[in-house]
Amino acid sequence: MYVSWHVGLTTPLAGAMAITDPVGAALFWAGGVLIDTDHYLDHLYFNRNWSLKRAYRWHITYGTWLQRHPGHRHLCLFHTVESLGLVMLAAWFWPPLWSLVGGMLFHLCLDKIYDYQMRAFWIRTASVVQWAFWARKNTPWVMTESMLAEETALPPPLSPPKKHAPAADLLEIGSLL
Ligand SMILES: [Zn+2]
Repeated sequence: MYVSWHVGLTTPLAGAMAITDPVGAALFWAGGVLIDTDHYLDHLYFNRNWSLKRAYRWHITYGTWLQRHPGHRHLCLFHTVESLGLVMLAAWFWPPLWSLVGGMLFHLCLDKIYDYQMRAFWIRTASVVQWAFWARKNTPWVMTESMLAEETALPPPLSPPKKHAPAADLLEIGSLL
């Protein structure tokens, strides 16, 4: 799901929470939105580029590519049960972090609904361990910007047929007469 949608859906809930629990609301918002930073880390790692704009464009194109390659499994590190488990463990020691867990769960539910609607429910791996097992038998790879550009490149549009200007036709006919 697009980050802007997460912002749009999480912010009103966090806003309502802020009335009674500002810290919890901030943590809920962080859990609901900021776990998508793993996509930016992917971009940094694979494309070696800091541009947020390019990261956003790359992520959208890559998402479309993934939908066309249903056998592929993508690892979003902060979207895994292991990441969630670590935050839950931390929350055990510092209870306000349960709001962060709540935000993450809200985010993961929204992502799964979106993936289901896109007919790509299994594309995003829910666990690092599960992904590691999949990667042992398959070739885990991520399309870089240049690879995606080649994959998604469409043939150049055919040049439209030349139009005969009626006036030119008439001139031609006139010269024959
Ligand atoms: Zn997400």
